[in-house]
Amino acid sequence: MGIRENLLHIKEEIARLSEDVVLVAVSKFHTLESVMEAISAGQRIFGENRVQEAIKKWSDIKQEYSDINLHLIGPLQTNKVAEAVSIFDMIEVVDREKLVDVLVKEMQKQGRNIPCLVQVNIGKEPQKSGVMPEELDSLLKYCNKSGLNIEGLMCIPPAGKDPAPYFTAMSRLQQKYGFKILSMGMSGDFSEAIKNGATHVRVGSAIFGDRKV
Ligand SMILES: *Cc1c(COP(=O)(O)O)cnc(C)c1O
Repeated sequence: MGIRENLLHIKEEIARLSEDVVLVAVSKFHTLESVMEAISAGQRIFGENRVQEAIKKWSDIKQEYSDINLHLIGPLQTNKVAEAVSIFDMIEVVDREKLVDVLVKEMQKQGRNIPCLVQVNIGKEPQKSGVMPEELDSLLKYCNKSGLNIEGLMCIPPAGKDPAPYFTAMSRLQQKYGFKILSMGMSGDFSEAIKNGATHVRVGSAIFGDRKV
């Protein structure tokens, strides 16, 4: 199936489960041609993992389509923040105080106020990015004090496990803090995520096909 059909199919499945879940089409490692196909099918919200790749792929397209909304969903190093702030419209991966500081400073410098999500390491996996759940409260207070615009939470549950308990735990955190956004669910589990309260799902391979990495 083509990208247009895949998008249609996923949107139908989303609509069957909920009225207003936002589909973030994850185009990492996929070509400009694939991205253009999704745009011509009406998709406007996209996710990329790497700052460099996003700049290369999206700078020109964003000039042409002013309604494109690009989300950063991969780990962000502080030395890439300036470029990230220049291209992304939402940053889903805030997970430490140092990053908060650099983001706030850079957004002031560029005159941009980009909404952000805090990424939670909900499975407490040592090698994964995201703030540990027990440190979330403190990081949110820090964001608030620093003036970073946090609109919600994001997570990637542990691979190869039933994601439902992790989704439920995230939903509880979202409610506890009264956030409007909860970004969770990928190609394999977005339906489950929506049933557990996701407001945004990040779907890649089910739209664009398999990727090398
Ligand atoms: C790659 C990626 C996705 C999309 O994954 P698929 O399984 O291809 O849908 C979603 N979220 C993050 C953070 C990713 O890195």
